[in-house]
Amino acid sequence: MSLIRRQFLSRAAVGGSVLAAPAIVSAQTKLNWKMTSAYPKGSPFYMDGPGSATDLAKRIREMSDGRLIIQVFGAGELIPAFEGFDAVRAGTVEMNHANSYFWTGKTFAAQYFTAVPFGMNFQGMNGWLYDGGGIDLWNEVYEPFGLVAMPCGNTGVQMTGWFKKEIKTVADLKGMKMRIPGLAGKVLANLGVDVKVLPGGEIFPALERGVIDAAEFVGPFQDRRLGLHKAAKYYYTTGWHESSTVSELMINKAAWAKLPKDLQAIVQNAAAACNVISEGWCQRNNSEAMEDLKKQGVIARPLPDEVIKALRAETQKVLADAVAKDALTKKVHDSYFGFKAKFDRWAEVSEEAFHVTVRG
Ligand code: CA
Repeated sequence: MSLIRRQFLSRAAVGGSVLAAPAIVSAQTKLNWKMTSAYPKGSPFYMDGPGSATDLAKRIREMSDGRLIIQVFGAGELIPAFEGFDAVRAGTVEMNHANSYFWTGKTFAAQYFTAVPFGMNFQGMNGWLYDGGGIDLWNEVYEPFGLVAMPCGNTGVQMTGWFKKEIKTVADLKGMKMRIPGLAGKVLANLGVDVKVLPGGEIFPALERGVIDAAEFVGPFQDRRLGLHKAAKYYYTTGWHESSTVSELMINKAAWAKLPKDLQAIVQNAAAACNVISEGWCQRNNSEAMEDLKKQGVIARPLPDEVIKALRAETQKVLADAVAKDALTKKVHDSYFGFKAKFDRWAEVSEEAFHVTVRG
């Protein structure tokens, strides 16, 4: 609080006429907010390009005619990469752009709003989030932390990753050193993989030097950017671990409540636009990058059925454990997989059938 305002308030209090702060910010007020990110400045998709954090801020500025200005900070510029949750909770910044699965240490149920292994694709996730109660559950999970959240981007299906050696059976996974974060890492660890968690920038040198034997990152465009194809030639494609990965816009709830309704609508609509636009960007860039990788001699193929079967069984065990420990996780899990069961049956006779029919 400024000295002048402090003096004013103290005089007002002495005079017995304490002025109440306005309940909401007036429609004419210009607001300056800060948004941090878990990704470094310049990262394609997350920080730069259509549907990224900077694009989101630009859309909000333009739609609000400059009434809501959001200053965007890459990881490490204002706070370290994974401190967004605490910074928004404390109100140090109003917004953070990341993925909710980084916060499973705070609340396990956050996993479901980014991606769960053997989960849903982009269409299914959108169905659940926007129209199947997913966003409401997300906000219920964040309520105790004073946060609200919404989807604001999606990578589409990710790739299993890069392997120096061919994977033929589950036994080939035993003792293999692999970079893969999160719940999928836990599943692989249970199957004997020696799981390593490395930030994006450290993956290539580790894979090239043989510190690790395999690595998961994102998909063809992002993986090629790191040069992973130069360190391992087998590219397993099955997106069992991240069937579509949602970017999260997290907002301090008290700051959100003070936003005029029209600015709230602008934020929600800009985030929804970025959700679709970023995924479109991924489709174009991944399809081009995959063609290029194949031309460079990369062997791209799905995981063997036996391996997928083992990964699925282990995923079910890991999720069952999480559900047994926490009632809120169970509530989110049941909603997610209840939706997925119906979505899978519908997708089989609609999009899947369509793809098979029209594929060139
Ligand atoms: Ca990934």
